[in-house]
Amino acid sequence: MQISKNSVVTFHYKLSKDGGELVEDSFEAEPLVYLHGHGSLIMGMEKALEGKKIGDSFSVLIQPEEGYGERHEGLIQEVPRASFEGVADVAEGMRFRAATEHGEVPVVVTAVTEEKVVVDGNHPLAGATLDFTVEIKEVREASAEEIEHGHVHGAGGHHH
Ligand SMILES: [Zn+2]
Repeated sequence: MQISKNSVVTFHYKLSKDGGELVEDSFEAEPLVYLHGHGSLIMGMEKALEGKKIGDSFSVLIQPEEGYGERHEGLIQEVPRASFEGVADVAEGMRFRAATEHGEVPVVVTAVTEEKVVVDGNHPLAGATLDFTVEIKEVREASAEEIEHGHVHGAGGHHH
């Protein structure tokens, strides 16, 4: 069957960004399973998968507007080092949740000086052109319950 709204799709993928760096490779782990047509995946990927079937392999290039969006400078903030009181060693790459003008978002520390800490609330793939290679492993119809919930249920009907 072809992938359409309310298909449950299992696929493997490799993701590189901006024409180079490999970011994710599901072939080394578990394939991704999702319910098609409910906005579970980025828009460009759901569009690319529409109408495909088991065994299909393809590559697709997705621009930021159909991927993880553009980067927003407003999500990059300088915070006084003093506000990290209680955190022993603030270092690059540490993750926190922070209040921003866009609500509470996960942020990553991108720079640390004696006085200030720079945190970035952008999605790591914001602004990137995404280069996916996809292989479709399984396509089935969703159950009525899965459609109602808007997500896939595991084998044996176990729930959440
Ligand atoms: Zn459910």
